[in-house]
Amino acid sequence: MSVTESLIRILRSDEKDSADPTFVSFTVPHDKDMTVLDALLWIQDNLDGTVAFRYSCRGAVCGSCAVVMNGAIGLACRTHLRNLPTEVFVEPLPNMPIQKDLVVDMTRFWENWARVKPYLIRLDDMPEKETLQTPAELDRIEQFINCMLCACCYSACPLQQRNPEYMGPAALAALARFENDSRDRRGGDSLKDVSHGDGIWGCRSVFRCIDVCPREVRPADGIAELRTRAIKDLFGRRRR
Ligand code: SF4
Repeated sequence: MSVTESLIRILRSDEKDSADPTFVSFTVPHDKDMTVLDALLWIQDNLDGTVAFRYSCRGAVCGSCAVVMNGAIGLACRTHLRNLPTEVFVEPLPNMPIQKDLVVDMTRFWENWARVKPYLIRLDDMPEKETLQTPAELDRIEQFINCMLCACCYSACPLQQRNPEYMGPAALAALARFENDSRDRRGGDSLKDVSHGDGIWGCRSVFRCIDVCPREVRPADGIAELRTRAIKDLFGRRRR
């Protein structure tokens, strides 16, 4: 097995001094299979146990290990060192306050997500049996179901950076998922709460959310669809 070395430069700060983060360098030996997450774990185990970062599944399912690597937002568990230069800069996700090192405070992200009521709502009687979907109905929402809430889109969005009040691509994509779900019955004026400049009208179709999504979700498309629905609502033309 051939082993080479990478210089991993981690942007570090502790919560008491997050205004002044600095890059700290670690030399990591690796084979062709090592990912950036593996390198962070190796650093934690062998060089400095205080380096802070998030991870859980290690298999691109949970989205916890999203960071910036050499300027690109992505999942550390999915990014192999062999595909990067030997010097790798690792930074926390933008658009969220740093808690420590690579760990950011996602409170706002989760609050926005909760605001869209990201669950099935039925205002009519609950059905006695499961409500089936056709393959075509599933097809309309499947990409949004694949969202793993990694916040890559939220961090990449320039509108989010400009306006921290903007609800962001992930939350609005979640709403598009339930608005389009054939089993959901949230009612005709359900878009009222997001029909403003911090909601669906805040997007400027920059499409960075689509570029960075590790799950090939297209949040901007969902937002565009919500806008069409909101306009139809305005003119009383929407039927579920
Ligand atoms: Fe992550 Fe994509 Fe979901 Fe955004 S839409 S939170 S980038 S999985």
